[in-house]
Amino acid sequence: MEKIYGVIGSPIAHSMSPEMHNDLFQYYKLNARYHAFHVEQENLKDAIKGFKAIGISGFNVTIPHKVAILELLDEVEEVAANIGAVNTVVNDKGKLVGYNTDGQGFITSIKTKVKKELADCRVLLIGAGGAARAIFISLASVGVSNIDIVNRTAKKAEEIITSCNYTTVSSFYTLSEAKYDLEKYDIIINTTSIGMHPNIDETPISITQLSKESVVSDIIYNPLKTSFLKEAEKKGAIIDNGIGMFVFQGALAFEKWTGIFPDPLRMEKVVRTRLGGTT
Ligand code: NAP
Repeated sequence: MEKIYGVIGSPIAHSMSPEMHNDLFQYYKLNARYHAFHVEQENLKDAIKGFKAIGISGFNVTIPHKVAILELLDEVEEVAANIGAVNTVVNDKGKLVGYNTDGQGFITSIKTKVKKELADCRVLLIGAGGAARAIFISLASVGVSNIDIVNRTAKKAEEIITSCNYTTVSSFYTLSEAKYDLEKYDIIINTTSIGMHPNIDETPISITQLSKESVVSDIIYNPLKTSFLKEAEKKGAIIDNGIGMFVFQGALAFEKWTGIFPDPLRMEKVVRTRLGGTT
């Protein structure tokens, strides 16, 4: 029988996940299909009950359900519980188990660009929203302890630092303080939406001096090269755009569902084709 997978969210029509996963199911000759399900907040509980009843094999969770889903699952993996958000659910013999592959997806992607051991890197995270929280806690969970945060709202950054269950040595800076001391970081990551289409000329902080071999990442993928990345490239940084995080969160979810770690280049091609008209 054909296995059913999917993604739930609202809005959901724009999601690139169905194309990416259906291409993989076909490529690996798996009898499975991935659908986009539009689920409003007030219907989340019923949707999960329905998924269990029909025996869905697994699904992704996107905005606005990543937090609310936690209490509807049978189990939540440790890092996802600390992040407080789930983006991937596996149906394990009738038990719905939640994971967060967003942060781990970012880590898998950035590892391909960083020359040093990740645990020895000093990281500057710009932003303190949902994506920043997943990245901060996932980095800390794999032994990265020097992670500073820059954000417009101090309270949100401080909440991430104090609620992280893994040991870190972290400081908070305002957006204007951040630009002076960028040289001490090996990795600088923009997780804010500043610079995203249509405001493509905006940057979260201005890039002054960078250290040699520093990697500057922007998790935005529309446009593929934000003004922030263009500025970093001019200063000699290795740059990393948001496609990597998106592709690897999907690859890790696919692996949890099927046991196969899929070809990320194939996935990237699907995503780039889809983004082609808008970047
Ligand atoms: P979020 O929870 O709404 O957080 C938004 C962050 O941006 C907050 O830190 C917010 O600061 C900051 N921000 C927004 N507008 C700002 C402004 N005008 N000035 C200063 N700060 C501003 O959003 P999210 O879910 O974390 O997503 C953030 C970005 O990451 C989006 O562009 C999203 O598309 C991208 N993303 C990419 C991937 C991927 O796979 N590549 C995955 C998830 C998200 P305050 O705290 O002060 O409000």
